[in-house]
Amino acid sequence: MIKIENLHKSFGQNEVLKGISTVIKEKEVVAVIGPSGSGKSTFLRCMNLLEQPTSGAITIADQEITNAKTNIINVRQNVGMVFQHFHLFPHMTVLENLTYAPTTVKGISKEEAKSKGMELLTKVGLAEKANEYPSRLSGGQKQRVAIARALAMEPEIMLFDEPTSALDPEMVKEVLDVMKSLTETGMTMVIVTHEMGFAREVADRVLFLDGGRLVEDSPPAEFFTAPKSKRAKDFLEKIL
Ligand code: ADP
Ligand code: MG
Repeated sequence: MIKIENLHKSFGQNEVLKGISTVIKEKEVVAVIGPSGSGKSTFLRCMNLLEQPTSGAITIADQEITNAKTNIINVRQNVGMVFQHFHLFPHMTVLENLTYAPTTVKGISKEEAKSKGMELLTKVGLAEKANEYPSRLSGGQKQRVAIARALAMEPEIMLFDEPTSALDPEMVKEVLDVMKSLTETGMTMVIVTHEMGFAREVADRVLFLDGGRLVEDSPPAEFFTAPKSKRAKDFLEKIL
């Protein structure tokens, strides 16, 4: 589904990704773990061209997205993203947040987008908030809306960048539960997270980044019990 070959990304003199290669299969759930500043967000953002890679290639569903001819809008339609700080449209209701892109970008009718939107809000447990504005929601509710909004575009892949890091502790579970139910639908997911219990439970594979390099690429059972590298060991000792 996603093939990443020798991906490099620099900001000026700062080389943030130093040659990352991996393949993510259809329906795979991959957790990306690593210290702050290791390049996790940049790695994720390259996968939907929120950042343009400096060199290397990313191929998604047989299309090389790093090719200059690629239509970025199409790529973003197919690769949904959920951010740490929700990024909802504050001047739109919850339901309008869900129908905006499908109607304007995909040309779906208002009625169809609304009915699909309500279906998704029901799935994330927020149907009764359809006509509220985001400012009236808790952090956990906002993040569930953000997930539903991304799903409204019917992407093949979902990227999550620390989706629970900005939440009060009591709201983390409701968001992780929604993500977990999404894994059960066979969605291909790449999740940057510090929730090690969650990663261990739902991920098929863990990618450990450090200093812009992919230091480990292993199944969670292996990564969490017997990390191969000293850097992963040190990292896990600090946080577990
Ligand atoms: P992580 O998500 O693992 O904490 P990031 O990918 O956010 O790491 O950042 C890695 C490095 O890239 C940091 O040194 C950060 O300052 C730098 N960086 C990220 N985005 C930008 C940007 N848009 N412009 C300049 N530097 C950036
Ligand atoms: Mg980050």
